[in-house]
Amino acid sequence: MTTATVVPAQAGIHAEQIWAWLGEVPDPEIPVISIVDLGIVRDVQIAGDGAYDITITPTYSGCPAMQVIADAITEALHAHGVAEVRLHNQLSPAWTTDWMSEAGKLALQGYGIAPPAQQVIDISGLRGGARAAVSRRAASSTPRIACPHCGSAHTEITSQFGSTPCKALYKCLACREPFDYFKCH
Ligand SMILES: [Zn+2]
Repeated sequence: MTTATVVPAQAGIHAEQIWAWLGEVPDPEIPVISIVDLGIVRDVQIAGDGAYDITITPTYSGCPAMQVIADAITEALHAHGVAEVRLHNQLSPAWTTDWMSEAGKLALQGYGIAPPAQQVIDISGLRGGARAAVSRRAASSTPRIACPHCGSAHTEITSQFGSTPCKALYKCLACREPFDYFKCH
C-alpha cells in the first residue's frame, strides 16, 4: 500500500481529460457514436503509481468488439502521452441501453439506426384491471420503433439480428427503407 498522493509529472492529467479523450474514440461497430456516448466506459481512475485504470463494460457479454475497443482506448491514450493504461472488464452490472447518452441516441438516429426504445412500462401507479390491461398489451406487442429515415412508426422487424448481434433488422412500411435497430438489453 502506498501513501503517496503526488501523481508523477508525466501523468499530471486529470480524469476529466481522459474522459474527453475517450469521448473521441469511436465505437468500432457504429463509428458515429463514441465509446463514452455508448456508455461502455464506466470508470477512470488514476492509480497511486501514475497509471490510469479504465473500466469498461461490454454492450453484451461476449461482444467480439471488446478487444478492438480495448486496443483503441490504449492507442488513443498513448497518442496523448499517457504511458500507463490498464483496462478492466466489468461484466456486472450488465450494460444497459440506459447508459447511452442522449447525444449518442441522436447520433445513432442520424446514422440511420433507430435508437433503443423504452421498453419498460411503469404500471405501478395503476390498479386492478387497468394494470392487467397494460401488462397484457406490453407483453403482446414489441416496442414501436420509429423509422430513422422518415419517422414513421409503421415499421416491422425482419430479422432479430442486423449487421451485428446488438442490432435487429427492421423495415419501414412507409418509406420502404430497411434500417438497423439498436436492441434494448
Ligand atoms: Zn421510413
